[in-house]
Amino acid sequence: MATVTLKHVQKIYPNTENEKKKKSKKDDAPVEKKSYQLKVTEEGVVAVDDFNLEIKDGEFVVLVGPSGCGKSTTLRMIAGLEDITRGELYIGDELMNEVSPKDRDIAMVFQNYALYPHMTVRQNLEYPLKLRKIPKDEMDRLVNEAAEILGITQYLNRKPKALSGGQRQRVAIARALASSPKVLLCDEATSALDPKITGEILDLLKKINEEHKLTIVIITHEMSVVEKICDRVAIIDNGSLAEIGEVREVFRNPQSAAAKKLVFPSNPFDASSEEGKLIRVVFDGLAANRSFIADLVSTTGLKVNILSANTKSVGGIGYGQMVMELPSDLDSQATIINFFESNGLTVTEVEAS
Ligand code: ADP
Ligand code: MG
Repeated sequence: MATVTLKHVQKIYPNTENEKKKKSKKDDAPVEKKSYQLKVTEEGVVAVDDFNLEIKDGEFVVLVGPSGCGKSTTLRMIAGLEDITRGELYIGDELMNEVSPKDRDIAMVFQNYALYPHMTVRQNLEYPLKLRKIPKDEMDRLVNEAAEILGITQYLNRKPKALSGGQRQRVAIARALASSPKVLLCDEATSALDPKITGEILDLLKKINEEHKLTIVIITHEMSVVEKICDRVAIIDNGSLAEIGEVREVFRNPQSAAAKKLVFPSNPFDASSEEGKLIRVVFDGLAANRSFIADLVSTTGLKVNILSANTKSVGGIGYGQMVMELPSDLDSQATIINFFESNGLTVTEVEAS
């Protein structure tokens, strides 16, 4: 159990000698085009910059963001697998920058399981405990308990290659749990697994989080995962935190451009005309089934042009959004917006892209 606090954290991957030489040449090869501008300084590649984040004790947080935005680097810095260039990392009240990974009480799980192939499952689970010189009785207790929680007791004498991907990831999580960490980090732990197994593993993580009050931070690309299990979602953009909030809040009313892009990926202008004001109306489970467009017409006599609509489930509650075009006169616009807002819906203006 612990809080995790990052204050103005920066990570610069130093240029290798090769890259320095390449850079000094005039006729550089064209730079790989990315969806955003990666910062490069004299020191090297700025992967994480001025990153501020406070994770509460026992919280389940998901980091979401496009590939290359710095998610893995952030988790690796928390785990101590990567040096922090600038800024401060605290676990609880303790400054961790110079503390070695094994003394941080943090366990990390990876996409590729990282099990030792020549060891049995039991030996895999025991290995980190042996390194920490945990007495045999205590070690047996910890291993058996973790195996029980992850449902892998019957596989303890098998080698990893005799297990499916989902079973291997359960072993990796059991190994992480056996060392009684304060914080569990998962870097795309389910990305190699099929949706059903992904669901099972994530349900288990959620259960562990709730029953063992373990702070968990995961990375995933799958929005369906975010919706299902996390307390808060942190949207990462270009090496820093764009937005963090309760899933419901971020999904209902994203503030940052990065979050808007994730939550509402479709471009409403695909279907729009150039006149008229565009608004987005976001509704949750309470309002999702109401025919509020019909109500609008019958109450105000005004019509809107619906350009796009979709719904999704967030934490078991239906959310939806509609992008609509309003009539061009300002009075009608105000009447319509007022109608939606007075019915408890969130209305935001859609900016021209
Ligand atoms: P994500 O996990 O969000 O996809 P990463 O944290 O892996 O992103 O990477 C962030 C940025 O840092 C990327 O531009 C990546 O190319 C760069 N990067 C990651 N690891 C290294 C490394 N060991 N050396 C140099 N650059 C790296
Ligand atoms: Mg990554």
